Amino acid sequence: MTAKRDAVFVHSDQSLSYKFSENHPFNQFRLTLTIDLLKKIDALKDSDMAPPRMASDEELELVHDSAYVEAVKKASKGLLTPDAGEGYGIGTEDTPMFDGMHEASAFLVGGTLTAADLVMQDKANHALHLGGGLHHGFRGKASGFCIYNDSSVAIKYLQEKYKARVLYVDTDAHHGDGVQWSFYDDPDVCTYSIHETGRYLFPGTGNVNERGHGKGYGYSFNIPLDAFTEDESWLEAYETSLWEVADFFKPDVILTQNGADSHYFDPLTHLSATMEIYKRIPKLAHKIAHEYCDGRWIAVGGGGYDIWRVVPRAWSYVWLEMTENSHFSGALPESWLNYWQPKAPIQLPTTWEDAKDIYPPIPRKPEIEEKNRITVDKALYPLRQNKKSREPSA
Ligand SMILES: [Zn+2]
Ligand SMILES: [Zn+2]
Repeated sequence: MTAKRDAVFVHSDQSLSYKFSENHPFNQFRLTLTIDLLKKIDALKDSDMAPPRMASDEELELVHDSAYVEAVKKASKGLLTPDAGEGYGIGTEDTPMFDGMHEASAFLVGGTLTAADLVMQDKANHALHLGGGLHHGFRGKASGFCIYNDSSVAIKYLQEKYKARVLYVDTDAHHGDGVQWSFYDDPDVCTYSIHETGRYLFPGTGNVNERGHGKGYGYSFNIPLDAFTEDESWLEAYETSLWEVADFFKPDVILTQNGADSHYFDPLTHLSATMEIYKRIPKLAHKIAHEYCDGRWIAVGGGGYDIWRVVPRAWSYVWLEMTENSHFSGALPESWLNYWQPKAPIQLPTTWEDAKDIYPPIPRKPEIEEKNRITVDKALYPLRQNKKSREPSA
């Protein structure tokens, strides 16, 4: 019997086959850049890694309609007409068809299932699958670069195979809509999403009043932040609210989606965060895992469209936190910079942290902070009311 490991990194280069086109913003090459950065600081060894497997049709259909899976398979072979694709959200500008798209997508789901099994079978406390995090995938429709929803499938799998109560935590700049709607009426799954308000950003949902439906009412939490939110306010909202949600739900396992697109540099969103949030996001997740879940923590990737300057550092922080190797600070390794700078279309950062002046001051800062506080209060209001009514009166 092998000893339980602290953390396993689920990956194989086959994950890079999830590729729409050369110029599509969703670019898994960021995985290569991240892994190389971790290897160059000696924080990731081959022995830390495990290969993903492919999800079976039966597993995909834990969440997805079989007709949709069939359509993706057809598209995968170039046999789906554009007309037929339209109804399934495939062949759009965001989510074009590509050869082998079924296999590539099922493989990303399988990676998250591999991570789930490692953690639930006590082979590791924590498992990271950065190829996953495709949170916009719906039951019968692709959306926002996502074909199959690996997190939704994994949560259903965790419920059926391990009878686990799952807390899903989504820190991507976009609302984690696909996962939320998959479990909207289920009180045994708690979904939490902190994101840029949907007022100007895809997918438009994630309002604070989306709290669940039927028996699932009260188990869906949304923290929509104002555009241009900066580190302090982002972290205040996250650290206050997630702790209270975890304490309320008391999960068996936590699944975190680590989209890295809230950074000021991200070309698709309008938040003004820096590396500071990416250092602290996994710290709280880690703490919750040990406090409530006997260590059980599965983490996936997600969005992140500044693949050179943001994603490699942000995702490295998740692994460094999992392996309690969080003393990395200051200069990035020269070997990484020397190798990648000549290939990069942009000047790479040279340090782990961002300089204070990467963006000009935000004039509405106090207003934004106040608005975000009100949003957190609204989101947590039912929890706090409940707690009050359970406290003995003096
Ligand atoms: Zn995103
Ligand atoms: Zn740990």
